Amino acid sequence: MDKIEIRVSPLTGVHAINCPACRKPVLLAHRDRYELPNQVPCFRDGDCVPGVYEALSNAQKTPASFEYVLLAGNCPSCHESYFVVEVTFGAFSDAGACEWLGWGEFERGPVKISLCAAPTATDVVPHEWIVAEYDSARGLIQRHTLGPWRLDDPTTVCGPFGVSMCQGSLDEGDPWDRSKKLLLAMWDSLRDLHPDLRAARLLNHGKSRAPSLLGLFHAIRKGIARFAGAH
Ligand SMILES: [Zn+2]
Repeated sequence: MDKIEIRVSPLTGVHAINCPACRKPVLLAHRDRYELPNQVPCFRDGDCVPGVYEALSNAQKTPASFEYVLLAGNCPSCHESYFVVEVTFGAFSDAGACEWLGWGEFERGPVKISLCAAPTATDVVPHEWIVAEYDSARGLIQRHTLGPWRLDDPTTVCGPFGVSMCQGSLDEGDPWDRSKKLLLAMWDSLRDLHPDLRAARLLNHGKSRAPSLLGLFHAIRKGIARFAGAH
């Protein structure tokens, strides 16, 4: 996966997350809090995005302190449906890390919201989105909220009991498929924004290079031995 350039900047003033249909704000992000302009929740339901975990390498899912969901909502102004992809990263590894993230206890603490921008946005990678940072008991938690995009046909992600990864359509171009491609395209770049995950990656990279350096050393020794043997 190619790395995507992401620029993170502090929020200045209010950043509006708008309905993709009528462009009216459904969520307002301030530097230190969210505000619901319509006093109604902007995302009503969500579920884990299928097909992502299986596609990640072991290095990409270590530590396993992450969570990613597709959340659907309705615009209070025009009533059209939309969805966002929310992906959360921590840098701790213990049993139940994902469940702990899912409980969202850390959200009770102070939050710092910043704006992310991808200058090389594509039809998969959005141009900009917000990241919320929480200083939790288990270290820094970063939560990216990507979207919203139009959900023209809610039955592509919803069943009789709401949004469900077992319902709807996995067809190319439908929301589950788009969300999976989005997460896989951005995974490494988003993880690298977390200072502890980045440090761990660089450390592992160093370790994985060590055997090849050792191999080089042996090759040089062999070369010297061969050279010495020639005389
Ligand atoms: Zn709307």
